[in-house]
Amino acid sequence: MSGLLLGCHLSTASGYAAMAADAISIGATTFAFFTRNPRGGNARELDDADLAAFLATLGERGIGPLVAHAPYTYNLCSAKPETVEFARRAMREDLARMERLPGHLYNFHPGAHVKQGADEGIRLICEGLNEVLEPGQKTTVLLETMAGKGTEVGRSFEELARIIDGVEHDELIGVCLDTCHVADAGYDIVHDLDGVLDEFDRVVGLSRLRALHLNDSKNPLGSHKDRHERIGAGTLGLETFRAVVTNPRLAGLPMVLETPQTGLSGWAAEIALLRGMAEEASSH
Ligand code: FE
Ligand code: FE
Ligand code: ZN
Repeated sequence: MSGLLLGCHLSTASGYAAMAADAISIGATTFAFFTRNPRGGNARELDDADLAAFLATLGERGIGPLVAHAPYTYNLCSAKPETVEFARRAMREDLARMERLPGHLYNFHPGAHVKQGADEGIRLICEGLNEVLEPGQKTTVLLETMAGKGTEVGRSFEELARIIDGVEHDELIGVCLDTCHVADAGYDIVHDLDGVLDEFDRVVGLSRLRALHLNDSKNPLGSHKDRHERIGAGTLGLETFRAVVTNPRLAGLPMVLETPQTGLSGWAAEIALLRGMAEEASSH
């Protein structure tokens, strides 16, 4: 097995220990999961025995860090105060629960400013994060790079940098780069991955980059659509992913597939494909 930290999004429906077993069955060494129902409902209480078995398996197999994902319904910069309040409360609860599996990552979509403008959106996101983050917490919170669909905030590296600048405990903040989203946002990772990483480094700082989402895109560069495609079947193409999994600046980062598949076998095949490309490069 190559040293890639690679996996996909998995379901918690059968419990956490079952999720770790799923990961092992498909050759995953990291994975993502929703901290609660993706539509944003109530979180189930963590079962002590299930969690203990889960943590033991992660330790034995050297799986992780994991990249938990907040539900899409959270919007820290909604125009509706009750929506903002819900997002803050839910994130606080999620992060409190994450302390029971310390040392992992928690990724969220910065939000949609819904006609309030990006400046107000960024202000509200910072205010929310400053209320939610607990100094000394064991979880790093990641801003996801967004495609720029509608009024999404986080469509450029500059917007992400401005959010980070406004967070008091910025040592708790990182970025998760989604390959579909950055291409949809207009960053040409197909022809110039290293140039895009240079720009990220200049604007945000590469040390902030803590995880990747690996998705091909159904749409062309700069389309602002956010429609994921299976690896190699979209406008990014296989060679882009070869460049990603062999880039020394991305080595060691957890990489999570969010491609449209109908079952675990599809992700197992993508994981094997990407590991194969990494191994091929390292044997030359
Ligand atoms: Fe996401
Ligand atoms: Fe993503
Ligand atoms: Zn997406």
